[in-house]
Amino acid sequence: MGGTFDPIHHGHLVAASEVQTRFGLDEVVFVPTGRPWQKAAREVSPAEDRYLMTVIATASNPRFTVSRVDVDRDGPTYTIDTLRLLHKERPADELFFITGADALAQILTWKDVEELWQLAHFIGVTRPGHALTDSGLPTDRITLQEVPAMAISSTDCRSRVSRDEPVWYLVPDGVVQYINKYALYTDARGAAPPVDPPPTEITTADARGAAPPVAPRPAVSAATTAQHP
Ligand code: ATP
Ligand code: MG
Repeated sequence: MGGTFDPIHHGHLVAASEVQTRFGLDEVVFVPTGRPWQKAAREVSPAEDRYLMTVIATASNPRFTVSRVDVDRDGPTYTIDTLRLLHKERPADELFFITGADALAQILTWKDVEELWQLAHFIGVTRPGHALTDSGLPTDRITLQEVPAMAISSTDCRSRVSRDEPVWYLVPDGVVQYINKYALYTDARGAAPPVDPPPTEITTADARGAAPPVAPRPAVSAATTAQHP
């Protein structure tokens, strides 16, 4: 599954999980883009941040992995190049490319579209607000798949963070914490990092029956809005 993943959210994860189950896939490889050509107008977060958030979000699923093929490559990301590289890395594997209805609608405008059909089978998943239609697409190489509707987008997550609104439950907890830790999507990026709380030392004997330690208050105000409700 290719994407900017800026940040990865539960819409991506539900779509990947649903397709993995329905198609009996051994593995779903998340491939964060390097520099996406479609998004040249907007500044995209550093590839390393998007890669790490994707690793955090997928870590608990044994069938989910993350590939660096695009983040380690210079230049704009084209799906055709990604698929060529993945095919080279895993020549024996049958590749499926999972993509949302909005991306599928643009597919005929993609570079070297004929070769795309040779390299992978495309699975277009439903996405709220985007009609799933197969008009003009080769039906033997594309399957449309309904997934539980999740009206979440990375754009919305970014603007929520920039407005100091919560993104808990829209993205995995670890991703909320990563966004908070590195002040992504706020003007605070580049400011001094939050000061680490002092370690709380509790011996096993002391801890038994003692009141649980109180979580230290974060030292930087920008961090406070992202705490769990
Ligand atoms: P942005 O708002 O920055 O464009 P996004 O939410 O669309 O981000 P992308 O990284 O662009 O996320 O998406 C990667 C792939 O996941 C695309 O094929 C996209 O269609 C699909 N996708 C994104 N959100 C959803 C969702 N809520 N349900 C189903 N598919 C989704
Ligand atoms: Mg998008």
